[in-house]
Amino acid sequence: MTAFLKLLVRNRLAAFGGVVLAIIVFLVLVTPLLGLQDPAVTDTTNRFLRPLSDGHVLGTDHLGRDMLSRLLWGTQLSLAVGFAAALIAALIGSAIGIIAGYFGGRVDNIFMRCIDVLMAFPYILLALAIVAALGPGLLNALIAVAAVNIPFFARNIRGVTVSLAQREFVEAAKLCGMSDFRIIWSEIVPNVIPVIVIAMSTTIGWMILETAGLSFLGLGSQPPQADLGSMLGEARNSLITDPHASMVPGVMIFLIVMSINLLGDGVRDALDPRLKSGALTRPQPSTKVSDTFNAVEADENNNAVLKVEQLETQFHINRRTYKAVNQVSFEIAPGECLGLIGESGSGKSVTALSVMGLVASPPGVICGGDIRFNDESLIGADYETLRNLRGKDVAYIFQDPLATLHPLYRVGEQMLEAILVHEKVPMNEAKERAISLLDAVHTPNAEERMKAFPHELSGGMRQRVAIAMALVNNPSLIIADEPTTALDVTVQGQILALLDELRRTRNVSVLFITHDFGVVAQLCDRVAVMYAGKIVETGPTELVLDAPAHPYTKKLIACVPELGRGKGKLEAIPGLPPVVDKLPQGCAFAARCSKAGESCQQGEVARTEVSNRMVLCHFPEEKLV
Ligand code: ADP
Ligand code: MG
Repeated sequence: MTAFLKLLVRNRLAAFGGVVLAIIVFLVLVTPLLGLQDPAVTDTTNRFLRPLSDGHVLGTDHLGRDMLSRLLWGTQLSLAVGFAAALIAALIGSAIGIIAGYFGGRVDNIFMRCIDVLMAFPYILLALAIVAALGPGLLNALIAVAAVNIPFFARNIRGVTVSLAQREFVEAAKLCGMSDFRIIWSEIVPNVIPVIVIAMSTTIGWMILETAGLSFLGLGSQPPQADLGSMLGEARNSLITDPHASMVPGVMIFLIVMSINLLGDGVRDALDPRLKSGALTRPQPSTKVSDTFNAVEADENNNAVLKVEQLETQFHINRRTYKAVNQVSFEIAPGECLGLIGESGSGKSVTALSVMGLVASPPGVICGGDIRFNDESLIGADYETLRNLRGKDVAYIFQDPLATLHPLYRVGEQMLEAILVHEKVPMNEAKERAISLLDAVHTPNAEERMKAFPHELSGGMRQRVAIAMALVNNPSLIIADEPTTALDVTVQGQILALLDELRRTRNVSVLFITHDFGVVAQLCDRVAVMYAGKIVETGPTELVLDAPAHPYTKKLIACVPELGRGKGKLEAIPGLPPVVDKLPQGCAFAARCSKAGESCQQGEVARTEVSNRMVLCHFPEEKLV
């Protein structure tokens, strides 16, 4: 709730609207205490007094009634009617939408056709017809305005509910044996409430206008009762001679509707969960580099394709700092495959995305270190430089190809696009290249497959297409973020073999991210083990697998089931990784480590580096030699 208010206040226009509305509501609430004149008492000798005359701050109207008093009482009435109408329309409309959307089929049909009938009439005519049938009066105007707005809510909420009703958590609730009513109440309603609030906040203003419109036509509040619309209507005849009588209610309507709309827009933005951590700003094209950046110079003369030196990437959210990547260093030689392994949440993906400045900012900030790609420093590089490297020299492969491939384009079109973004080549040449790459990733019938949509392919085939797309511009580095996690074991084996073949034949370097030591063993030359944002051990794969030095590495390896070992107990690491905004003193793994001593919970952790191995531990399992 406080986060919501903070976001709202940060949006200046919304805050302005909120303040204006608060002042109006406050004035309206204290009206009975102000000791104003009776709004209905006429005094025909003092008709049309100008504002600021004796005893009448805003002057008087055509019957000599005090404008200030009428304005405040009238505003009270207009606001109350507008809010009540919005509330009624939202309640009834949302209920219809939820029931129609949740049950679907015939229920949906009946409800929505009734709504269609309501919508078939022009909006204001329908309201007029309802008032004409019920008779003029403020209550009837309220009913009419609420009724004509019900379809708006019903349609919106039905749409949201239909997509929610097919989601997994609703299925899960059904499998638990919950009743429909219970599911609607506990699963659907909480999810649609933000939508209802947003719809309401953007429609209240217009409902107040509609009520005022009906009163203006004499169908709403009846004399001598004042509301803003009827005040305007009564002042209509003297618009030229005594403009203040219509200006006063006019300005008030303007202020109310403007402030509600500004506030409504702000509420909509602040309630959108995607904007919550982004604090209403759009993400930048490349990750922000902190003002207090810790520059580190990586030594230039080495032949690594990618060299990362003491990289620090953090997320700054509401004064909290999440140290997702904390002083990470590694390098990858040409043609080498480095495995980056660790539990979920250890910072692997953020490390990989930092390389090309792809971490979303806000909230992501690169706070220190150096990233060198072919000896070119990438931190703080301008967007053009990064864009030219992305997809050309450095290609990414992600976990779920169904999410990364565009659902509405054929895979061939997407491959061509990937080529043409970086190179102007004739169409048929690009096509040939795409087909030959699909061949290279062992796609049967490559030419036919070019015409397939992503949903027509199996998971393994889609991942092959994603790999082929990564290869289109002959990258020198491929960053693969858990590319086999979504696949079954046999397909995983094929994909790993394919990646291995490709990197050997094309001499591509690979940064391979996984949580599975079995996969590392199959593919990687070297491995870096990551825990809570830090690399805790590195070394050649066989050495690390044979003799893990860090207790965490040892436990991770013990977690890999081995066929043919007979029935044994499968290890698990007790506890959970720490949350990276409150890292403990000393070693982050200490709380879960059986070897941890007192020294592990304070100060710097001992770092041992011997030729090609490194471990960050006070009590390593193995003495590195
Ligand atoms: P993994 O090793 O599973 O790939 P990630 O690199 O995705 O883990 O995440 C590392 C840490 O960074 C996690 O603790 C996660 O909570 C945090 N994190 C990642 N993305 C964001 C984000 N957009 N906002 C806030 N925290 C994030
Ligand atoms: Mg990840």
